[in-house]
Amino acid sequence: MKEKFLGVNVSSHSYNQLKEKIMLDIEQKKQSFIVAINPEKILRAQQDAELRRLLNGATYQIPDGVGVLLASKIKGGDISQRVTGIDMLLTLCEQATIHDKSVFLYGAKPGVAEKAKESLIRKYPNLKIAGVLDGYVKDQGYIKQQINAAKPDILFVALGSPRQEHWIVENMKDLDVRIFQGVGGSFDVLSG
Ligand code: UDP
Repeated sequence: MKEKFLGVNVSSHSYNQLKEKIMLDIEQKKQSFIVAINPEKILRAQQDAELRRLLNGATYQIPDGVGVLLASKIKGGDISQRVTGIDMLLTLCEQATIHDKSVFLYGAKPGVAEKAKESLIRKYPNLKIAGVLDGYVKDQGYIKQQINAAKPDILFVALGSPRQEHWIVENMKDLDVRIFQGVGGSFDVLSG
């Protein structure tokens, strides 16, 4: 269930449908990749065919931005609910707590993911946070080793866009992780 805006796919699933599909992917040991789509990314993808391919190659493109909802309405589409990257992150943390799954926070400046972790634990005291790593570590081998040792079910990647989307696509095959979500500045928001 997707709608296309200037060549970029956006999922028209409801929040609840998305949540269920993603949790089912974990159970079925499928890898999936969530990307938040806003009008800025759609416009950037007009000049960047590789970015367009990358966004369209994600498993779930969530409608992050009222511009996407408005465009859908004008086209007679079905997207009526905004799903922001940070809301999806929080929903997945809640689901992880309920279903005993773990998450890993990768990205943002040193110390920020650690603070975001504390904030998430205050919200979801039973959440399993398998690890945190800042987004300025250069050694790609070390990053992958840390994540694979922690074996999280869900990996949140906060490197900014489109860097995080490129990173996910390049590395997902090497990682023992089910769900990847690019979350932009969400750790900064949570830690602030
Ligand atoms: N970032 C990072 N490594 C980098 C560049 C950026 O971890 O090499 C982080 C940065 O510290 C910030 C996030 O990526 O936490 C980018 O946030 P921004 O709000 O710019 O992203 P957007 O939501 O606009 O994609």
